[in-house]
Amino acid sequence: MKNSTFLNPSRRTFLTGAAGASLIALHPFTVNAAAGQVHLRIMETTDLHVHVFPYDYYADKPRDTVGLSRTASHIRAIRAEAANSMLIDNGDFLQGNPMGDYIAYERGMKEGDMHPVIAAMNTLGFDASTLGNHEFNYGLDFLMKSLAGANFPVVSANVVKEMGAGPRDDVTLLKPYVILDRTIVDGAGAEHSLKVGLIGFVPPQIMTWDRRHLEGKVGTRDIVETARAWVPEMKEAGCDIIVALSHSGIGSANHTDGMENASVPLAEVDGIDALMTGHSHLVFPSATYEDFEGIDVEAGTIHGKPAVMGGFWGSHLGVIDLMLENEGGEWRVVSTASETRPISKRNEDRSTTALVEDQPDVLDAVQADHDATLEYIRRAVGKTSAPLHSYFALVADDPSVQIVSIAQLWYISEMMKGTEHEGLPILSAAAPFKAGGRGGPEYFTDVPKGDVAIKNVADLYLYPNTVRAVRINGAQLKGWLERSAGMFNQITPGEADQVLLNPSFPSYNFDVMDGVTYEIDLSQPSRFAPKGELVDETATRIINLMFEGQPVTDDMEFIVATNNYRAGGGGHFPGTGDTVIFEGPDTNRDVIVRYIVDQGTINPTADANWHFAPMPGTTVLFDTGPAATGYVDGVEGVEIEAAGDGPDGFARFRISL
Ligand code: MN
Ligand code: MG
Repeated sequence: MKNSTFLNPSRRTFLTGAAGASLIALHPFTVNAAAGQVHLRIMETTDLHVHVFPYDYYADKPRDTVGLSRTASHIRAIRAEAANSMLIDNGDFLQGNPMGDYIAYERGMKEGDMHPVIAAMNTLGFDASTLGNHEFNYGLDFLMKSLAGANFPVVSANVVKEMGAGPRDDVTLLKPYVILDRTIVDGAGAEHSLKVGLIGFVPPQIMTWDRRHLEGKVGTRDIVETARAWVPEMKEAGCDIIVALSHSGIGSANHTDGMENASVPLAEVDGIDALMTGHSHLVFPSATYEDFEGIDVEAGTIHGKPAVMGGFWGSHLGVIDLMLENEGGEWRVVSTASETRPISKRNEDRSTTALVEDQPDVLDAVQADHDATLEYIRRAVGKTSAPLHSYFALVADDPSVQIVSIAQLWYISEMMKGTEHEGLPILSAAAPFKAGGRGGPEYFTDVPKGDVAIKNVADLYLYPNTVRAVRINGAQLKGWLERSAGMFNQITPGEADQVLLNPSFPSYNFDVMDGVTYEIDLSQPSRFAPKGELVDETATRIINLMFEGQPVTDDMEFIVATNNYRAGGGGHFPGTGDTVIFEGPDTNRDVIVRYIVDQGTINPTADANWHFAPMPGTTVLFDTGPAATGYVDGVEGVEIEAAGDGPDGFARFRISL
């Protein structure tokens, strides 16, 4: 349905109570618009990441918090509320769930093929879109073939095929901007024409994140520099209003060249009237941004201009309302509002409830690819030459942690190329997420040797973390491992059957460090309490810490591949919080999928790079899943035997130190 369907000159009478009228809740701007005043609603989806069905393909089950098929209900409700509306997507639509991977890695995009997310967007009649950084993940050829199916223009001003002396001399990959000529209806029912200019921006960091696809083919420019150049041209070309499609977060108010999250300084550019933002997967307006310079959360503005960020994966629809007034043939913005509409709510018991229904035609547009994706996630995409299980992840180097470590290392090694950090040793930190405990005796990773399916990757990496690298010294590395070693109770030498694991220490804080070798001396007290408070800075459990066979000294330097939780200070590990040198846009889960697809057969065999220090005549007990029994013989670097039943369905094992 297009705007003109809602051209309804008798609307005012109708609102004051015409009999039989349907009760549509009209926005106050629409209700109050007078002759020569126009209410325009601009809707935003952002960071859809191929989420059309409300479905979690990793877990292989429905999920209420995602899906354009649901956001679509808000879109259609708003079209019914407003006399004039537009629908914009703000980028990151092509990649980010197994349906995206299925199309890229399995089905492929041939000339004339339709990408499912584009099919869904066509169904909803998007007016325009811009590119996000993830549009480049599968290469330019894949991108251009996907965009060819779009019934709407896609703009991007700062991705450049041939760099000119200034942005306006560039040959850009896509049109930098588009001017949409729209017929709009004012408060008295009279039609006017309005030229809406839309210009798009992406973080220049795509040149690092997707170097292998982009180097030598395109370059990028700073977002603000690009806007300052093009916006005046759009004005000269007759734009009545200009909307920036900023696939960039709301961050610092200070413009620095090449900044990733540039929406605040972008809002200062003269001529821009409103901003669609994204990339951060957050919601604006929201309390998240209360203390940000230049932001008015109440008004929903950045530097006085309306802005919105509609969450991610279809979680919210963003809406900017503009009240426009015509004065002497010129349109100006007289008032604005900004809001987001969620598709689900979280209940007190952490369950979710859908707030809107699916739009069946959106589901229909993607049904065949959805079915093919289900088949894809359940089928082998690679092989593992060893079983991937976590039954012994807390007592020995372990294949389920090793594979995460290897994939992170593979990815970060690529990202460090050509940077000032190239050549430094790269280590990788990973912890077991599914390791029994309160999760119960079945709560372990257990993928047998042989075929690996996409849905197994969710089992290997439980959280939607993103990849990070930190740069630390040898002293911080030792501290990091001391923090991890708080997993264990202090053990008295010479005594039998002592309880090994500290139950108040969560397994996700037991980081194993690959790329160095070390031993854990359980006879010593822990340096840190379970939540990370320093207890005794002289306490030392980590001994014989070596890099390439040489002792690690305090001043050595290392890069550590990890995730956003740890790098940001989660668990209070020494060497984290302010040492980040690389923020990857990719989830650790995506990195593991890419690694498996790239390698075909993976070899997750643990390399036993850490073990407990020997303590003759001492034994400890620990509980794990009963299915562990079948894997005891394969555990390296530790002497383990069955020791009967543990409580609550767990099996007990004895380790001779
Ligand atoms: Mn995104
Ligand atoms: Mg290892």
